[in-house]
Amino acid sequence: MQRLSAARLGDLLAGDLRVFGGPSTIEPLAGRIRAEQVSIVLRNTPLGMVANILNAVTFVMAVWGSPDQTKAILWASVIIGAAGFVGLRARSSFQSVKPRSVSRRTTQNLVRNAFLFGTWWGALPVLFFGAATNAAQVVITCLSAGMIAGGAASFYTIPIAAIAYTLPIFVGSAVAIVWMEGAVNLPVAILIVSYAITLFRAVLAHASEFTQSFILQTESENAIRRDVLTSLPNRFSFNERLENALVDARQFDQHFALLLFDLSNFDEVDDHFGRAMADAVLVEMAARLRKSTRESDGIARLEGGEFAIIAARDIRPDQIGSLAKQIIDVMRAPFLIEGREIYCRTSVGIALAPTDGLDANQLLRCVDTALHRAKTLGAGSIQFFSASDDDAAARRNALERDLASALANDELWLAFQPFLDLGSERIRGFEALLRWQHPTLGAIPPSEFIPIAEETALIHTIGHWAVKTACLAAVHWPRDLRVSVNLSAVQLKDKALLDGIVMALSETGLEPKRLEVEITESVLISDFEDAISLLQSLSFLSVTVALDDFGTGFSSLTYLRKLPLSRLKIDRSFVQDMLADADCAAIVRSLVQLAHELRIEVTAEGVETPEQLDYLRRVGCDEAQGYLIGKPVRIDDIPGIAAKPFGLELSN
Ligand code: C2E
Ligand code: CA
Ligand code: CA
Repeated sequence: MQRLSAARLGDLLAGDLRVFGGPSTIEPLAGRIRAEQVSIVLRNTPLGMVANILNAVTFVMAVWGSPDQTKAILWASVIIGAAGFVGLRARSSFQSVKPRSVSRRTTQNLVRNAFLFGTWWGALPVLFFGAATNAAQVVITCLSAGMIAGGAASFYTIPIAAIAYTLPIFVGSAVAIVWMEGAVNLPVAILIVSYAITLFRAVLAHASEFTQSFILQTESENAIRRDVLTSLPNRFSFNERLENALVDARQFDQHFALLLFDLSNFDEVDDHFGRAMADAVLVEMAARLRKSTRESDGIARLEGGEFAIIAARDIRPDQIGSLAKQIIDVMRAPFLIEGREIYCRTSVGIALAPTDGLDANQLLRCVDTALHRAKTLGAGSIQFFSASDDDAAARRNALERDLASALANDELWLAFQPFLDLGSERIRGFEALLRWQHPTLGAIPPSEFIPIAEETALIHTIGHWAVKTACLAAVHWPRDLRVSVNLSAVQLKDKALLDGIVMALSETGLEPKRLEVEITESVLISDFEDAISLLQSLSFLSVTVALDDFGTGFSSLTYLRKLPLSRLKIDRSFVQDMLADADCAAIVRSLVQLAHELRIEVTAEGVETPEQLDYLRRVGCDEAQGYLIGKPVRIDDIPGIAAKPFGLELSN
């Protein structure tokens, strides 16, 4: 009970308005309110202290020459000294930056000082009023009234300080008047009490209104900092925190780590299950993140499935690494939404300040690059930014920028690589392979620029161009040769792809059965149903479909049965190992048999030696492709090659 009331008194002295029926607030909002209250009081303080000094001087002049003169000088010097000191300090603290939050002790000290000043002014009428001349009494009355009014006005944001200051003056004045001989004592005392009450009520009303409007303002400020869906801080708030963390890092050498992560397949979840389900996943994800991190790890949702953490404590690399691992682990469990299990994975990129930079943009770029590298290593990876990433990122940015204009600048071209029919020993067709001749960086391999094209959606334009250019080339070839074009997973998701292929065929006049598209298994995993319907439409048009890089992915045999496939391309890695590794040889042999039973032809990729070619012939493989038969070459070299049977010298 005693502790409770002591705490209550502490609250009261710290400027809390609950005691007076004002709004209740909890830290840290209370700290921000105190900062606001104190800063307004401090702003009024220098002028208030000048008034104190002038009033004290006025009083000494009023009693000059009377027996009380010395006592008055002593009294006034205390006020003048204290006011000078407080006034100067208030001035210097007012000139420095206003703090975001002020401690309870600061407000309590302010209330104590207000009380000490009030008590000293309250002593004035008690000590001097009785013995003073009429003229001096008038001066004392005016000064007391003035100090009450001035004090109430300067402390209006902190009612308890106003009370601490004015109450002793009221009491002192009342005591002095009541001590005097005369009949008016009682009415005067009543009058003083009612003045006091009126004044306090006005101060309270003001203070409450001030606090309320501050709370409202803070609430609306908070609203723009929250993500509506997950209630996590949003990008706006994240940017502010990042700037604050950077200020601390620059001024106080405080280190921090920035973690960036996203749901690897959020877009697919969104496409496949719809917005509502995707939102539910995000809400659940935010809940898991809140549970598995601490208050001090500032989490924010940046956009879509992308989240960030600013970790300012425990920032040794191993500690940050385990925080990242924790995030990956909590995302591993399936999300149960409307009775469905949705699996999501995440990778984490990490940048450190000040090591990787002291500028928000630079740090964001670093963490983005680190995340990018983590993603290419596969879901569930954690990557710290490293300086060598910087060069890689710079190159990537340059390529991304330049790829946009590469088509228009004629920097892209198609190379064609032949397929050899192992029965007839004749060339059966060519695979079109994209090439980019960069004006300053030279030849850029497709393994480098195709992922960039996929991420920037440029793949749609480039892919369409490739199909059309390949068809255009093939119309001039002998009619028994086909042309094969690669389609990436991103392209297959595009509803306009089918129209684009139809248009390319009709514009170039190529017979549809001479066009083949090559897809990889990754296409099928993310969006099997859509892929099936697209492939069916294509085979309906007589365009054939080949499954590329077979054996490198999940290699589900279901695909062979369910998809309208004409061809299987056994990945180069099997072909290269099959003569040294009996298992590889067995796989190649069985795949050929299995495919034939399903009436699917088999092409072996990456054939580099005559021995490999021999083995493939023996196991009944239909076609071979590889440097032995022919490297990818320019279109101009093709008619010559295509007409010749294998065995003649092939130019590369
Ligand atoms: P891919 O479809 O598996 O293409 C075969 C890759 O193996 C080509 O690399 C080719 O040059 C290479 N290659 C062919 N024979 C041999 C050999 O005997 N030995 C060795 N070591 N390599 C051989 P490239 O041209 O660098 O293409 C890489 C990948 O880029 C392609 O793999 C394909 O996935 C993609 N790509 C190429 N052009 C296109 C395109 O027009 N569209 C799309 N979406 N992807 C493309
Ligand atoms: Ca291919
Ligand atoms: Ca391949």
